[in-house]
Amino acid sequence: MSTTRPNLSIDRLISELQALAKISEMEPPVVTRIVFSEADMRARAYVRELCEDAGLTISNDAVGNTFARWQGTEPGLAPIGTGSHIDAIPNAGLYDGCVGVLGGLEAIRVLQQLGFNPRRSIELAIFTAEEPTRFGIGCLGSRMMANVLTPAQARALRDKEGQGLEELRAKAGFSGALESVAVAPDRFHKFVELHIEQGPYL
Ligand SMILES: [Zn+2]
Repeated sequence: MSTTRPNLSIDRLISELQALAKISEMEPPVVTRIVFSEADMRARAYVRELCEDAGLTISNDAVGNTFARWQGTEPGLAPIGTGSHIDAIPNAGLYDGCVGVLGGLEAIRVLQQLGFNPRRSIELAIFTAEEPTRFGIGCLGSRMMANVLTPAQARALRDKEGQGLEELRAKAGFSGALESVAVAPDRFHKFVELHIEQGPYL
């Protein structure tokens, strides 16, 4: 039996994780990226560019959840999802959610290099405010997708300066009704997330 080792580029992944970690409101090595801050927007742009380089099609929903899609041979089927978040609580580490995002992207690139043609599309998801960095609530984007947090509840969110989600997402360039964020339970066929917890408790 031949064992072909997929061309997983650890060096590429590490260097991208380090590049992403430098986009921070704090001096490296600690990472701070408050959702919708200037650092968060630059980090989103960096990841988006990597995804575009891999030929993925990018879309955003109204709360800024981002999806980078590798089209399958049967595009009508629900996609396989992977991904995580790139916002970071103050003084976070460089892995955490970023491994779930950039690791997922690396997995897609390896499959592409191997000449694999997925039947189901594969979508890399980057969820808005998975960390409670601004509004005192974690998993904001994913809760809204699951409709566990309603648009009315989301509209009532304020940060410490009293700025609302509506105002901040508009400034960040995300428009459309918050009602459109919720998705059907079968939005993803399966979802796998690589996540390294860097705090003392999981
Ligand atoms: Zn995390």
